[in-house]
Amino acid sequence: MKVIKGAQVYAPERLGKKDVLITGSRIYKIADVIEVPQALDAEVIDGKNLILVPGFIDSHVHVLGGGGEGGFENRMPESAITDLTMYGITTAVGLLGTDGIAREMTSLIAKVKGLKAKGITAYAYTGSYQTPICTLTGNVTKDIMMVEEIIGIGEIAISDHRSSQPSFDEFVQLAAHTRLGGILSGKAGIVELHLGDGSRCLELLERAIAETEIPITQFLPTHINRNPRLFEKALEFAKKGGTLDFTGNEDADYWEKQCGEVRCSKGIRRMLEEGISSDLFTISSDAQGSIPLFSPEGKFLGTGMGKSSSLLKEIKECIAAETIPMEIALKAVTSNVARILCLNTKGHIKEGYDADLLLLTENMEIHTVIAMGNTMVFNGEPLVKEVFERGSRD
Ligand SMILES: [Zn+2]
Repeated sequence: MKVIKGAQVYAPERLGKKDVLITGSRIYKIADVIEVPQALDAEVIDGKNLILVPGFIDSHVHVLGGGGEGGFENRMPESAITDLTMYGITTAVGLLGTDGIAREMTSLIAKVKGLKAKGITAYAYTGSYQTPICTLTGNVTKDIMMVEEIIGIGEIAISDHRSSQPSFDEFVQLAAHTRLGGILSGKAGIVELHLGDGSRCLELLERAIAETEIPITQFLPTHINRNPRLFEKALEFAKKGGTLDFTGNEDADYWEKQCGEVRCSKGIRRMLEEGISSDLFTISSDAQGSIPLFSPEGKFLGTGMGKSSSLLKEIKECIAAETIPMEIALKAVTSNVARILCLNTKGHIKEGYDADLLLLTENMEIHTVIAMGNTMVFNGEPLVKEVFERGSRD
């Protein structure tokens, strides 16, 4: 039992100064004042001068490490638990990426189970860039139905020189199998789509919405801010009710200059100005994935790596640079992600919901991270680490 006293609560909507009582892995009560009898021995966390927000949900993390473009020396490392918790991520969705050969589903699910054992919530998408997709059981629908951790497919690459150039028929059949898996298991059955720089942009997706019965809510296109042309098309998709996933970037200045990447903060500001619902944007990190740079002729020039820290960085930038209210900006990494992924007990600070909580300082630095009721980070220091992160005396 834990009680957080007197923090300013954004649930993400603004609740004001509250006490929040946690029992086990759930939020039990939220009230102006909660006095817990001493005999119950609750841990009291002082929230004075701190901001309490829901734990962040990162819907796109290469937890096994991604990349490999340009050769084996460019393979990126796995996510250690602290790569996530130190930046406020309490729920991560793991996925393969460009490489679905040397990284595969068995390892991905094992890694996701490892992160869960460490204390956070973790899920996975089945598949990688290519179609037909690689699965765990040999069948997409079966993967989603029978494997607890799998909630959809991804990242399926379209409009990218690295994709398998899926045909329309192939694409919609895959989406249909995914939707059925979701329906039969009570999960999202989400189709997470990697958008490349290709001129076809969202064409396959637009056709799927126009020509089939598959609802627009089945799809989550990501990297939609990678260039201005794609972003304009993505706005049209959002105006029809589709959710857009921005990719956060710690190095946005460089990429904005290099290829016109639309900064998350500017893109979200634009969506709001266009009258698009504040429910229809999310930000994910592409953490541990490569950020390769190719010449216009497709030649590999070099690579960086995505980081989970970009979520908090982008939220801060939304607030500071674009004066987007905190309760709106936070939706991008909390309630909106929970809704599109059907994570029904996450994304809000609400009685009965999972105790995934962050205490932030007034400057919006991470102070404390609680995942499923367990304190993972306290006063900016990690309490839970990987075995290999510990000193030999720990
Ligand atoms: Zn991608």
